[in-house]
Amino acid sequence: MQALSSFIAGSWQTGKGEGTSLFNPATEEPIARASSDGLDLAGALDFARDRGGPALRALSFAERGKLLGEMARRIHEHRDALIELSMKNGGNTRSDAKFDVDGAMGTLAHYAELGAELGAARILADGEAVQLGRSPRLAGRHVLVPRPGVALLVNAFNFPAWGLGEKAACALLAGVPVVVKPATSTAWVAHKIVEIVADALPAGALSLVCGSAHELPGLLGPGDAIAFTGSSDTALRLRALPRVQTAAVRLNVEADSLNSAIVGADVEPGSDTYELFVADVVREVRQKTGQKCTAVRRIFAPEALVERVRDDLADRLRAVTPGDPFAEGVHMGPLASAQQKRDVSAGMARLGEHARMVCGGEPAPIGVPAGKGYFVAATLLEATDPGAAVLHELEVFGPVATLIAAPDDPAELCALVARGGGGLVCSAYSDDRKTAAALVAGLAPHHGRIVLGSQKIAGQAVGPGTVLPQLIHGGPGRAGGGEELGGPRGLAFYSQRTALQGDRALLDAIVK
Ligand code: NAP
Repeated sequence: MQALSSFIAGSWQTGKGEGTSLFNPATEEPIARASSDGLDLAGALDFARDRGGPALRALSFAERGKLLGEMARRIHEHRDALIELSMKNGGNTRSDAKFDVDGAMGTLAHYAELGAELGAARILADGEAVQLGRSPRLAGRHVLVPRPGVALLVNAFNFPAWGLGEKAACALLAGVPVVVKPATSTAWVAHKIVEIVADALPAGALSLVCGSAHELPGLLGPGDAIAFTGSSDTALRLRALPRVQTAAVRLNVEADSLNSAIVGADVEPGSDTYELFVADVVREVRQKTGQKCTAVRRIFAPEALVERVRDDLADRLRAVTPGDPFAEGVHMGPLASAQQKRDVSAGMARLGEHARMVCGGEPAPIGVPAGKGYFVAATLLEATDPGAAVLHELEVFGPVATLIAAPDDPAELCALVARGGGGLVCSAYSDDRKTAAALVAGLAPHHGRIVLGSQKIAGQAVGPGTVLPQLIHGGPGRAGGGEELGGPRGLAFYSQRTALQGDRALLDAIVK
């Protein structure tokens, strides 16, 4: 069985003992194992800080961008192998695997281009100079410079490629070395990516720790940062770490979210906008077996549309065939792990206390040995008690969404949606500008991103579940309060913002 080693202090090193097993979630066969026991993790962080940091800081944005471009190129070169591994270790269908791998490549390529645009500079200007005295000579200016430490990138199990790519792109372009810690259950894809790209980067710029290594965040110090994606429970543990509090280790959290899709009362069934809404919801339930932080969990439809929406969604979700991603005709793979299967089943049972099942039930996966695999059917629930707390507070991280009858009054609707406690993304479908504006006003304070679906963009819309490098990813409240990506905004977390004040001509010479 493949033992996943770690790439630390410039070499591949294998942890002691058996470690944790990784499985093929369609067949339940063990396929690899990973251990970080006995590895010198403190030494790994020092190597990144002492070797990777100076090497990256010596480069201009354009030069760092070239490194990202080379990472993207190599991932493209090994795309087929990565997709296959993602199908085997993550239970992804081929198209779901592409979503992850191509997402990593596209994000790295986007930041490579940004590096080229920023050119020979090593300091990033943050806004224009401002006059501070009576004459224009005395001026002030904000700049962003690379922080001196290391960035620990802790990722969730669902996007081992994209999670690595999107975090590393921002940190490396900002000039900060990274230590990647993928979720153990699906770490093989991240392991392969590091194997592919490691020698394209300066020593210490990119390290990888496979295996649980939960002690890593506690080893960080001043100047270091943690970019975390995962559950609220783990986020809470990280926030409580003494080093995070006393050494001011920066922490960015991307956590749970009960994302919503809202169809407006003005939307006619069968119209382009309606079809966009239905297609988006079905994709969000099915894609990656619902294991996306941005997947739709709650669907709000006005009373008059509920029946039609329920029937249309159920028809399409019943046609989603689960099975082994390698088998013909499979639309949806298994959940990624046995734990996921337990959590999703328990979550559905809890939602079921306040919602009835419209479609779902016992799955009939194809291409797998009888009784094997962590499968669930694509499931639509309909709320019997729209105000029940559990429907708005419990994130079931699988192919499950609940249809909820929406109040007519936009303010009441927004208040109900806001009971999610802060989310990553909300999509609202309407061709009425007043409705769209009222929803934006009511929903924006509670979400990191709002997708406005309408007839004008129906043919070219990017669904709410796709995180784009140009726009920020993150959300307030239970979504973690974090912010990633967003073009150049993504560099800020890894940078120190410093105010310079002095002679205007001198500032202009330093900050180009
Ligand atoms: P998780 O159990 O919190 O694990 C996330 C990562 O944290 C894994 O790499 C895990 O490593 C590590 N970890 C766990 N306990 C730790 C500790 N005490 N100290 C340091 N690291 C620790 O979450 P998950 O089950 O992988 O992911 C599912 C959750 O992530 C869902 O709730 C979902 O909403 C959320 N998510 C959010 C986003 C977003 O962008 N907002 C994206 C994807 C997923 P091991 O695997 O080795 O334990």
